[in-house]
Amino acid sequence: MSESNSNFDIVIVGGGLVGMSLVVGLAKSPCKVLLLEQNPTAPLHDNILDLRTTGLTRSSEKMFVQLGIWKKIATAATAIERLDISEQGNFGGARIDANQHNISPIGYMVPNHHLMKVLSSEVAQLANLSVFSPASCEAIERQENGYKVTFKLDGELKQVRTNLLVGADGANSKVRELLGITATHKKYQQSAIITNIQIQKPHNNIAYERFTQHGPLAVLPIQQDYCALIWTQPEKEVEHYLQMDDQCFMQTLQKAFGYRLGKFSAVGRRAAYPLSMTASDDLTREHAVLIGNAAQTVHPVAAQGFNLGLRDVHTLVHMLIEKQFKPELFNQMLVEYQQQRQPDRQHVMRLTDGLTRVFSPQVWPAKLLRGFGVRLIGSLSAAQRSVLRRNMGTRYLLDLENDTYG
Ligand SMILES: Cc1cc2nc3c(=O)[nH]c(=O)nc-3n(C[C@H](O)[C@H](O)[C@H](O)COP(=O)(O)OP(=O)(O)OC[C@H]3O[C@@H](n4cnc5c(N)ncnc54)[C@H](O)[C@@H]3O)c2cc1C
Repeated sequence: MSESNSNFDIVIVGGGLVGMSLVVGLAKSPCKVLLLEQNPTAPLHDNILDLRTTGLTRSSEKMFVQLGIWKKIATAATAIERLDISEQGNFGGARIDANQHNISPIGYMVPNHHLMKVLSSEVAQLANLSVFSPASCEAIERQENGYKVTFKLDGELKQVRTNLLVGADGANSKVRELLGITATHKKYQQSAIITNIQIQKPHNNIAYERFTQHGPLAVLPIQQDYCALIWTQPEKEVEHYLQMDDQCFMQTLQKAFGYRLGKFSAVGRRAAYPLSMTASDDLTREHAVLIGNAAQTVHPVAAQGFNLGLRDVHTLVHMLIEKQFKPELFNQMLVEYQQQRQPDRQHVMRLTDGLTRVFSPQVWPAKLLRGFGVRLIGSLSAAQRSVLRRNMGTRYLLDLENDTYG
């Protein structure tokens, strides 16, 4: 085993969107930071039909403004100005217009590869950062004031020392396991089918949420002439939808969605994501913290996973600044961190968990509630909708923590 012979103030395991955002957040810190990412940099593909997109809330926009990178992100962001909620087989539905509620825009859709490109170009300029990739974290050893971290790089085991270990390594976090932190898992027996479609009529920055007999369907504006699709299906149906040829899939989709956007003319590769929730039972140990999906992985129904992870980053960076990056204050800081992050993450987890039940096509009482919910939203006053906006983090990218992070 070779000693990489270095001491780092902070070692971040995982260079996904959350880990990379943390690195950018630490750009101006006096800390020596190391990022370990097990995957080689993925090649960026630019076929619009195959792009994955992430819905960003306005509070995430503000955080990226603070990080100084929003302008670059905004070059590929599509604003959402209106939400249309409807149910197959029921006339009417509900509409939330951003302009009428002074929340314009409601949120943004941004291609993941663009987010990653902006974050990577920032990270490449940082003098206080070292990156090892592909390098996988294999083991940790508790030491005074920190950890010795063992990782594999080019088939060789190497070690570094750190005062703060950050697990940003996703739902199946190795860091969580190595820290001995247990997690609660829940499987929803549903998968989200994700793809993009080409549309005939302009989307006019409208996001559609439609409850169909085949499961809830979100059609979200991405670029001119294109929308992203998230169609939640019971697990046993998923293969069928993945195997359909493109024409058959578009016809089935068209039947469920209707012709609001004209005729669908092309569809991208389809991928299915089994839906589950994983919640770490603790967020911290001495000199160690879990953030992003490593801390909590939520059902994408509410488009909150990354937004929530970004709030983890925001809180951690602010606390580190408050403690002037002094390692002797880290443990006290981590206790405060856990206390501060709990209400937000628990709120989002409860909410997404509840929404999956309401969105489940098989649940009869949920169907009633859903129909009621769709009509209820349509009949709300502006003030009531504003309350709803603050309290419901549905896929409509509503800000759960707008006030806190505003
Ligand atoms: C279908 C779908 C749609 C979604 N839509 C939205 C949305 O609209 N809005 C939103 O906010 N969220 C959305 N999400 C959630 C969002 O994608 C995630 O919450 C977010 O990407 C998590 O980022 P992360 O960096 O925490 O984890 P990950 O993206 O999982 O990154 C973890 C990284 O750690 C690396 N890693 C793992 N183990 C090791 C190791 N041992 N050593 C080194 N590196 C390691 C991995 O290679 C990976 O790069 C969606 C999710 C899905 C599935």
